[in-house]
Amino acid sequence: MTHDTLVYSTKEEIKQCTEDLAATFETGLTRPLSFRKQQLRQFVRLCDEQRDALLEAVQKDIGKHPYETMACELALVRDDAMRALDKLSSWAKPEYPSVRLTFALSRPHVRRVPYGMALIMGAWNYPLVLMLAPFVGAMAAGNTVVLKPSELAPYSARAITELLPRYLDQRAYRVVNGAVEESSQLLATKFDYIFYTGSGHVGRIVMQAAAQQLTPVTLELGGKSPLIIHRSCNLSVTANRLFFGKFLNCGQTCIAPDYVLCPRDLIEPLMVELRRCYKAFFDGNARRSECYGKIINERHFDRLMGLLEEDKASGCQVLLGGTSDREARYIEPTVILSNAKAALMRDEIFGPFMPIIEMDSVDEAISFVNRRDQPLTLYLFATDKKVIEKVRESTRSGAMLINDTMVHMAIAQLPFGGSGASGMGRYRGKAGFDTFSNQRAFVHNGYFDDPARHLLIYPPYNTKRIPL
Ligand code: NAD
Repeated sequence: MTHDTLVYSTKEEIKQCTEDLAATFETGLTRPLSFRKQQLRQFVRLCDEQRDALLEAVQKDIGKHPYETMACELALVRDDAMRALDKLSSWAKPEYPSVRLTFALSRPHVRRVPYGMALIMGAWNYPLVLMLAPFVGAMAAGNTVVLKPSELAPYSARAITELLPRYLDQRAYRVVNGAVEESSQLLATKFDYIFYTGSGHVGRIVMQAAAQQLTPVTLELGGKSPLIIHRSCNLSVTANRLFFGKFLNCGQTCIAPDYVLCPRDLIEPLMVELRRCYKAFFDGNARRSECYGKIINERHFDRLMGLLEEDKASGCQVLLGGTSDREARYIEPTVILSNAKAALMRDEIFGPFMPIIEMDSVDEAISFVNRRDQPLTLYLFATDKKVIEKVRESTRSGAMLINDTMVHMAIAQLPFGGSGASGMGRYRGKAGFDTFSNQRAFVHNGYFDDPARHLLIYPPYNTKRIPL
């Protein structure tokens, strides 16, 4: 099947690809650290030499400014690969835990070894980093890898498909393209690890398929990430970071602050600051700004505008923005005075709408958050130490950011991932290497026929001596 921009893989190609990569793993090609390092070096070369082609592809898909793609995607995966190159030898070193004397002679240790053939399925909103950052972890860990980019970002998927073989060993790493049919065929295949990024709906399909093969999974899902504003915050800095985090990539970011819980009397001053941000970031007209992208497709555009219309009809007030253009897939950064029952509060918004809900106490905000699924990220803006501690200790989430938005994705030393409905498993840096490694336990004993065993362990049992 052929999409306008992207050629989908055929059934035969997918079958051949998985057979080839499973066979390659058996040959041991990807196991030596020297091979992995050489491939990681090639990957860095790809990032450097094909930078413009990759940035252009993302711009075509989602209208993202190349600077933003560089900062939020390509630079991160390049850094990840550089770090993996630097640290791989130490990450892969056998680990000798300290054990009691009885076992010391058995030299117990842990070796991080590759699972085998891994599948990585990416989402469209950050088509490079969501595919290539886990890929770095899988490569570093010594797996063979099938990459399945999202068909909703066809230019990026095509760029990855065309460029990867020019730099990386095709015996070990391949790209499969397609939509539901092709993904389903992949999921019916026996992989040794599946790493999925996308919606919880498809996450469940992936996990069910993996269960049939008893394949371990990492699920990087989404959900509604709340942002709590406490009156002890600095409102001006809060607004800068909130506006940036919410409207980056038109709100199509898994860790975007989804909604804001704010004390009643701070809403008006917050709006003054948010209007200032709109003027400063997009000159008060995002439509004309080259730094503001577009909604991925008409289906998402219609979904988003439908929610806004529903909320407007039920009395929610638009405080900022609200304009749109379907043909250009443009939706203006929009702030809405909302409530818990609003349409925008049902599911993850994944678009440039910021509902603000009045909340008079921290306790009320905490119980509002805790009544919902565990978020990928919880944001809190406050300086009051007691408040910070209270929110931290009484909530759950994949990550918590205090007085900032988004930056944790850029810090590769922090394991990235969700909790509860926002996902399971972690990646980036060492966490990515560990995710794609089987922690294989070893005992390596000699042949000294230890008399203590005869006395304490082997039958016949001497009940007067309890050895353990
Ligand atoms: P998507 O539509 O790009 O789909 C992701 C992958 O699933 C694609 O490869 C697609 O082909 C495949 N797929 C789609 N339907 C399928 C089906 N029925 N059976 C098998 N495979 C199928 O991505 P999306 O789901 O629209 O992504 C948006 C969601 O992803 C949001 O909820 C967002 O929060 C979440 N997300 C999470 C992260 C994270 O890191 N946790 C990052 C980005 C996006």
